[in-house]
Amino acid sequence: MSDFFDKLTKQGKALWESAVSTASDLAESAKETANDLIDQGKDKAEELKLKGQQKDLFLKLGELVFNEAVNGEEADKESVIEELKDVAASLLALDEKRAAALAAKEAVDEAEEAVEETVEEAKEELEEAVDDTVDTLGEIKDSIEEAIESVEDKAEEATITCPVCGVVLPAGTKVCPVCGVELG
Ligand SMILES: [Zn+2]
Repeated sequence: MSDFFDKLTKQGKALWESAVSTASDLAESAKETANDLIDQGKDKAEELKLKGQQKDLFLKLGELVFNEAVNGEEADKESVIEELKDVAASLLALDEKRAAALAAKEAVDEAEEAVEETVEEAKEELEEAVDDTVDTLGEIKDSIEEAIESVEDKAEEATITCPVCGVVLPAGTKVCPVCGVELG
């Protein structure tokens, strides 16, 4: 039984440690979520800024092309095109960064679920172990009660009670030593 209780204590301790670790993981994850939201806000602002720049550059390019058509002079479009390429590359990098952040978040969510499942399973195992212990203790109690009854029965069988004075005497006593009556 002592081994069993050792095991139970260890399981309880492991469960507690696991719960504490889950709580700390969840707190850490909440902090990360807050940071993620801040980062997402920054990314959104960056995206809006880049899209604004992109729009301005397209307008500038359109104006150059229009002036070329009207004046017949060739304008320097290359620098605007280069700037447009840079903006497009920045927007693409931003998208990739967001996709990576999303994938990382999903991985963290999955890990958290796995931890919660493990704690839940450990809890169930512990509850079963406790139920088993309670059953075992109940069986032991029944056995002890049966043993006591049996000892009492044997003690009763080994004695007789004098029908006249009521004294309890060893079985087989022929004459009551108290009142002198003959016992059958
Ligand atoms: Zn007697």
